[in-house]
Amino acid sequence: MKIGIYGGTFNPPHLGHLEAARTAVKVLELDKLILIPAAVPPHKALPEGTPEGAHRLAMTQRMADALSMPKVAEVSRMELDREGKSYTADTLRAIRAQYPDAQLWLLMGTDMFLTLHLWHDPEVITQLAGICAFGRTEQDGEELFAPQREFLSQKYQAQIVTITLPGLVDVSSTRLRELLARGEGQEYLLPQVYGYILMNRLYGTHADLKRLELPELRACSYSMIRAKRVPHVMGVEEEAVRLAERWGGDEGMARRAAILHDCTKYLELDDQLRLCRQYGVELDELEQQAVKLLHAKTGACIARDIFGEPDEVYQAIFWHTTAKADMTLLEKIIYIADYIEPNRDFEGVEELRRLAYEDLDRALLLGVETTIQEMRDRRLPIHTNTLRARDWLREHGTKTEE
Ligand code: FE
Ligand code: FE
Repeated sequence: MKIGIYGGTFNPPHLGHLEAARTAVKVLELDKLILIPAAVPPHKALPEGTPEGAHRLAMTQRMADALSMPKVAEVSRMELDREGKSYTADTLRAIRAQYPDAQLWLLMGTDMFLTLHLWHDPEVITQLAGICAFGRTEQDGEELFAPQREFLSQKYQAQIVTITLPGLVDVSSTRLRELLARGEGQEYLLPQVYGYILMNRLYGTHADLKRLELPELRACSYSMIRAKRVPHVMGVEEEAVRLAERWGGDEGMARRAAILHDCTKYLELDDQLRLCRQYGVELDELEQQAVKLLHAKTGACIARDIFGEPDEVYQAIFWHTTAKADMTLLEKIIYIADYIEPNRDFEGVEELRRLAYEDLDRALLLGVETTIQEMRDRRLPIHTNTLRARDWLREHGTKTEE
């Protein structure tokens, strides 16, 4: 087994880290990549305003998740949990103890590589792990890397691989932090990480969460969910806008409701219930156990309370899972967009897509009936509001010629 170890302060983790991690997995054919945020780096003090370890861990987790290598990439809190300075030699010893037979590779950027002999216990480091250094330019590879590679392999018999990443995002963390404090720099960050920074007001950012522009709103929403769900949310936004255009709905509200509709999807039942209590959302018996039904309600509350969305958006998110009798246009749009967005693939989706642009109420009825049938097939309880939605649509919806 080959394990890559990528340490750093990740202050914050940016696209350069992401690219380096992705390339290392490919080039070294790693079976596992462990990202390890440092508590206190040995070689320098953490700059003022550095977020606490828990925040850097959370941002690094978002980056690991965005690598979309669920069995490969993981984040370790071992250096954050360890007392004192985060010596790489200690970290490698711990990983070696955990994986006695693995081949370890320590990943690092140019600056680190060029000073490796000055680290604490370089001989231990080079004995426990191979060194994989990333250069940003061709010059790094030849002019800078070659002499150091020579030196380290002679002195420590180090095993060294150097990789040039020509398109590597070239930004120092110091510069990036300066940009963030001025409200810039998001182009160097994953939206998930940028959103996390905004929501937690890290690095001197002070965005008014109740007045976010769309890119910032997306970033915040994506920072709350898993990376694999982001395409779905993007698809719902796209579909909701199309439906709003077709049926004369409010495009802006459709967009914002779509962006936020699943933002609490990954909260555990306990947190969902806590939010419902906090916001005074009353739950029936079924809802108290069905975590899937709760994210619509808690998502609506977050949209209104944290992001200042109006009642229309709140309602559209609130009803996107169960539907209900007598829905507004925006509620219908979000319900249907969620059902038929471009990433959806199930039997009958094409018919539902066609119908959605021909007769919204009939599409809604078909969607609701499909859900009811599916719940029956899976022997799951059906929410009363879903049944009411069906009955209402059968009675009031577009009359079909039968
Ligand atoms: Fe949902
Ligand atoms: Fe959804």
